[in-house]
Amino acid sequence: MSRTALILDPVSSVLAEKLEAAGFRVLDRSADGASEAEYAESDAWIVRSRTKVTADLMAKGKTLRVIGRAGAGTDNIDKDAAAERSVDVLTVPGGNEVAVAELALAFVFALARKFGSGLQSTRDGVWAKSKLMGFEVTGETLGVIGLGRIGRQLAERGHALGMKVLGFDPYLPADATPPAGTQIVSMDELLSKSRFVSVHVPLSEETRGLLGTDQLRSMRKDAFVINCSRGGIVDESALVRALDDGEISGAALDVFVGEPELPKTLVSHPSILAMPHIGGSTVQAQEKIAARLGDSLVEFLSKA
Ligand code: NAD
Repeated sequence: MSRTALILDPVSSVLAEKLEAAGFRVLDRSADGASEAEYAESDAWIVRSRTKVTADLMAKGKTLRVIGRAGAGTDNIDKDAAAERSVDVLTVPGGNEVAVAELALAFVFALARKFGSGLQSTRDGVWAKSKLMGFEVTGETLGVIGLGRIGRQLAERGHALGMKVLGFDPYLPADATPPAGTQIVSMDELLSKSRFVSVHVPLSEETRGLLGTDQLRSMRKDAFVINCSRGGIVDESALVRALDDGEISGAALDVFVGEPELPKTLVSHPSILAMPHIGGSTVQAQEKIAARLGDSLVEFLSKA
């Protein structure tokens, strides 16, 4: 009998096409949920972040061999339980770097041109033109913290737009080529000189609160913070305080500590633009990720 892959979260159809072309059976239960029998008789489960793959859920997978995560993070998968059951977990690093960098760039423009209050006042039927004087980002300084896949894409795009780009990444190998047009500086210099500071680092004990009270205080009063990484890398209460005290001018956030719960103090703040974690949500990024995961699953299941 051919191996069966059970899709539990919405993923691009590219993934099912790859698996079917390799002769595997695919059950897409992302819309209506899988039956007990389908959980029990499938060899691979495919998830994004919605399905919480707990030890209890895994216990239903009598023939489960592998969990494919269409993305990089595995916070929603109990990896200890997977290891105990000898279930492999396959992830896809990258594939969404352009999507996230473009969102950060969209935030740069949206902050510079006051999209938050502009869209709101227009929707309210108010002609607020006189309150909406913006500025051109050309010639402004963009500080990129973390020069990995996403940070590099953003830095290169900022440079292409005529921005001065400063970068900070303590783990960048000494012989690595910095992104085009990027000057590598210390964190202090980046914070004190940048008009826009965008963070692109993983969440860890080291990076939690990376931008906290002291760092926000050391920034320019006309500066903006952008967080498209993970909630908590910019300390949420320190951010609100810094905005309320006029220490910085605004912020744009795609990620939150308690998501999908939306923190009211942040999302209703007049100086904050907020989006519900859509950095990687582009058709192209999801197709790239699905294709890469499809290839790894085909390889895994062909050997299993
Ligand atoms: P990456 O691993 O390619 O790059 C991360 C970089 O951060 C590395 O170069 C690393 O050296 C650097 N870094 C680590 N600690 C640092 C520190 N203390 N100071 C400065 N730099 C530091 O990761 P990536 O693909 O560029 O993704 C970055 C983060 O973006 C991810 O970890 C994830 O949290 C987030 N992300 C968000 C979305 C979204 O939808 N908003 C989508 C994908 C990824």
